[in-house]
Amino acid sequence: MPDKSNKPKTKRLKLDQNSSLLDIAKNVKKLDITKINLSDIKKEKNIGFEITHKDTNSKARIGLLKTVHGDFETPYFMAVATKATGKYIGPDDYNTCTEGIICNALVLSLRPGSSQIKKFGGIHKFMNYDKPVFTDCGGFQMVRESFMQDRSKKGIHFKSPFDGKRFVLTPEKIMNIETDIGADCIMMLDDLAPYGSTKEEFERSVENTHNWGTHSLILHSNPDQFLYGIVQGGFFKDLREKSAKYIGSLPFDGLAIGGVAIGETREEMYDAIHAAVPFLPENKPKHLLGVGSPDDIVECVSLGMDTFDSIFPTQNARHGTIFTWDGRLDLMSAQFESDENSIDANCTCLTCKTYTRAYIRHLLKLGEGSGRRYAQIHNLQFMKDLMQKIRLSIKDGTFIDLKTDIIKKYRKNIDPKNLIGVKVKR
Ligand SMILES: [Zn+2]
Repeated sequence: MPDKSNKPKTKRLKLDQNSSLLDIAKNVKKLDITKINLSDIKKEKNIGFEITHKDTNSKARIGLLKTVHGDFETPYFMAVATKATGKYIGPDDYNTCTEGIICNALVLSLRPGSSQIKKFGGIHKFMNYDKPVFTDCGGFQMVRESFMQDRSKKGIHFKSPFDGKRFVLTPEKIMNIETDIGADCIMMLDDLAPYGSTKEEFERSVENTHNWGTHSLILHSNPDQFLYGIVQGGFFKDLREKSAKYIGSLPFDGLAIGGVAIGETREEMYDAIHAAVPFLPENKPKHLLGVGSPDDIVECVSLGMDTFDSIFPTQNARHGTIFTWDGRLDLMSAQFESDENSIDANCTCLTCKTYTRAYIRHLLKLGEGSGRRYAQIHNLQFMKDLMQKIRLSIKDGTFIDLKTDIIKKYRKNIDPKNLIGVKVKR
């Protein structure tokens, strides 16, 4: 008979809120996280956020996002650089006409691989860009491109768009990927239910998001990165409130509202944001995922959001819809065929300083990549200038005037039934 007394005893875990983060992180799979009071976990960080101005007529504010790449004033807009580049534009354009970018952690983990980016010392050095970089976990992109296969309590099940391989993205995996990529601000893995899902499906999405959020908090220990918690809840007021209360109670460095701009009406989107914001701590930076039309931005700044990302300005530019201070301009229209003016006489971007409307229209009509680049450079510069005007108007007390002007100009020729956003109570 084998001597049972020689069998090594299983080491009993004694982890609680006094344990070091490293101890907890090493044992997270064996740990009952419900026994840990996450609010008690303190992390030393080299980053911060400070509110410097508040608008008296709305919840708009100016903040200072203190990153290891410098301090940056909010509100600001970031361009979407999914693969560490855009379509026809790259870091040289981003350096002149953006105040920040957001990359997709999951897509970068597939090509070139997050360990490859880590070898370069992180995403900033890899792409030679020195302003703030966010990474989204990437689930949204995959849902949009239909690479998502399933969602379970464990994580999100995907099929790689590159080689068709199937894999599960878990909170642990995404924290490792985002730590390697080394962006300034990173998003936790969240569970995004598609627009039109039932309330039960949105409840499941909230439950998964909350579980993955607590795991992400325990697993993340890079003192140079903001970790953002994400509020879900679809378009159900009670679920948004529940999610904002829970995510807002945890020691995340920043908070994001996700699961909007997925096909809902403007009223539904503003209601979802409005239901969440009052339950999020005021002193933390707040990001709105996927919203980027000029009129939605001024509206959401007035609801208290600080940073934004969206493909809206660049996607519109590639199709010839140009943003100006008089509203949208359809450059593909025949009236611009012989127009010798620049897109905007007051704009300082490369496109406006160098080319006529007729020339950009000609390039876009031909489907040339150069035309798509010039049009995108202008729209990104417009967004940068818009955010600067928003900050100046908050400082001098004229934000509401700017907001009214932008909404008026960007909602003309739009179905009046969709003008309901302006009715949101605050
Ligand atoms: Zn321009």
